[in-house]
Amino acid sequence: MLNLNLEGKLAIVAGVADDQGYGWAIAKALKKAGAKIIITTWPPALNILRMSLERGKLDTKLGPDYGDLTFEKIYPLDAMYDCMDDVPEDVRTNKRYVELGDFTIRGLRDSIEKDFGLNKIDIVVHSLANGPEVQKHLIDTSRAGYLAANSASAYSFVSMVRHMAPIMQKGGSFLALSYMAAERVVPGYGGGMSSAKAALESDTRVLSFEAGRRYQHRVNVISAGPLASRAAKSIGIIQNAINYSETNAPLTDTLTADDVANTAAFLCSDLSKGITGSTVYVDKGLHAMAIAVPSGYNENS
Ligand code: NAD
Repeated sequence: MLNLNLEGKLAIVAGVADDQGYGWAIAKALKKAGAKIIITTWPPALNILRMSLERGKLDTKLGPDYGDLTFEKIYPLDAMYDCMDDVPEDVRTNKRYVELGDFTIRGLRDSIEKDFGLNKIDIVVHSLANGPEVQKHLIDTSRAGYLAANSASAYSFVSMVRHMAPIMQKGGSFLALSYMAAERVVPGYGGGMSSAKAALESDTRVLSFEAGRRYQHRVNVISAGPLASRAAKSIGIIQNAINYSETNAPLTDTLTADDVANTAAFLCSDLSKGITGSTVYVDKGLHAMAIAVPSGYNENS
């Protein structure tokens, strides 16, 4: 029987703060496939995540025969910063950051090397994004807002590959999460977030070549359909995007986080070892459509 088996693999899922988003679902799928899981959480969300876990408020059930989702370690990570020298004073001294030690991407790399050793990580999933002006039209977005969106949501992936690739097991797998707004206009997805997703997809192709030749690692990105995660709800257009997809996509059933997570597990497994540099659509086929389905359309005649 063909087997999606991640036993013996150690995975980092970056960008988990609750059980509503893609990161949590991907952590569950990787765990069900046998991997051990490390997560990283944005410092402002860390306390609430820890408290929710302690109080049993998150859905850790993996289903019959699988037990519970547990983590080897939870690290703080603010993906805006590569090293502590980059961190502005007001962030360093902020009460949510001040006692966390090194919460940058280099800090994460150093902590993982210290705690787990060299060549122990096999999988890195980048499931995070942030655009402080996402609710503004692109045309009204400030330079600072545009650059912040691209720094947090796209450059952070470049930096994660640069820092993590050398300490990973050869043949490792990187995966990021993109959105159709990288390629087509999604009104309301502003603040430079569409630009960041376009960069993320382009960077995936270039990184796949460079990390492939240097380390034999693979780099892919999933272009995921809409999900009412915490981040997506804050943008304000998510229900409209879900309704549009369910009305107009080739497959009209609801896209679940598990649909994306199961594809993520495949892309992180040896079953996909011929796939790198790819944008893989997990969106019920919406990306294939050019115009909305006309009202009264009948699939049978
Ligand atoms: P989510 O809220 O579960 O995940 C976003 C995470 O990013 C949060 O945990 C947040 O704390 C973290 N984050 C924000 N700023 C950060 C920073 N500076 N450093 C580190 N972490 C930071 O929401 P989600 O929608 O599941 O998002 C996960 C990924 O999926 C994102 O890349 C998102 O763009 C992508 N995606 C989402 C949708 C959707 O409709 N929800 C569709 C396509 C792609």
